[in-house]
Amino acid sequence: MPPLKCRVIGNNILQGGIRELVLALTPEAPSFFPGQYLMLDVGDAAFPFSIANAPNQKTLALHIKPTPDSSDSDKIEHFLNSNPTSASIQYPLGDCCLKDLPDHPLILIAASTGITQMKSMLDWLIEKKFTHPIHLYWGVLTPEELYLQHELEAATAEHQVNYTPVVSQETDLWQGRTGLVSEAVTADIAQLNAFKIFVSGSPAMVYGTLDHFVGNGFQPEKMQSDVFSYAPRPQ
Ligand SMILES: Cc1cc2nc3c(=O)[nH]c(=O)nc-3n(C[C@H](O)[C@H](O)[C@H](O)COP(=O)(O)OP(=O)(O)OC[C@H]3O[C@@H](n4cnc5c(N)ncnc54)[C@H](O)[C@@H]3O)c2cc1C
Repeated sequence: MPPLKCRVIGNNILQGGIRELVLALTPEAPSFFPGQYLMLDVGDAAFPFSIANAPNQKTLALHIKPTPDSSDSDKIEHFLNSNPTSASIQYPLGDCCLKDLPDHPLILIAASTGITQMKSMLDWLIEKKFTHPIHLYWGVLTPEELYLQHELEAATAEHQVNYTPVVSQETDLWQGRTGLVSEAVTADIAQLNAFKIFVSGSPAMVYGTLDHFVGNGFQPEKMQSDVFSYAPRPQ
């Protein structure tokens, strides 16, 4: 897959310091499936980022969270701060995506910026008038990290999607659900096996969620995550 050079049409800072990079697609650029990711070249290295929008032939939006004390994150920040007019990417990548409309209800679970992958899927499902129930859970450490809260609240209310943000650190600034996102799911939904479940986050979060669900009688083959491909659990 040859690298593709794209024009940068947006380089913004969102709530909580999340960086948004928007790239223009040329007409000959390949399409992608909702949930896929790309590799962004930042100079001497390339890093994976989920595509945060549904396929639309025109743009690719990335939401990038800076990691404190990470030399990789510093390289990404340095690239973004240089106000690039173009970016080189490789895509589409990843098997954890929607190639067709599923014929069963869905649970979409995101940790932190894992919401990008779920947002791409959700936007596409809404656009395609998906009729089965959708439950969207977003787990974060602090309420400030809910940088898409207003957008998700509006979209999910309009389209009867069950949206539940879950904040794991106790704080007076948050009146909603608290604790681990995986425990919020099992507290709400008894019959997990009636759903196909997509999970996005770090390997520790994804495997922790899988183990918690299996402990509640869940059949593991009903869960999909990119983590199962790029960070298989040591046997
Ligand atoms: C398939 C894939 C998609 C990713 N998509 C994004 C994204 O959309 N936005 C983003 O900010 N980072 C994403 N990452 C992580 C990103 O590539 C790293 O943050 C970056 O490489 C810097 O490395 P690090 O060592 O600082 O962070 P890492 O230690 O690798 O990760 C730090 C942060 O990235 C988050 N993260 C890790 N894996 C994922 C994932 N699969 N999806 C979303 N967040 C993840 C973690 O929760 C954490 O907040 C993704 C990683 C992978 C493997």
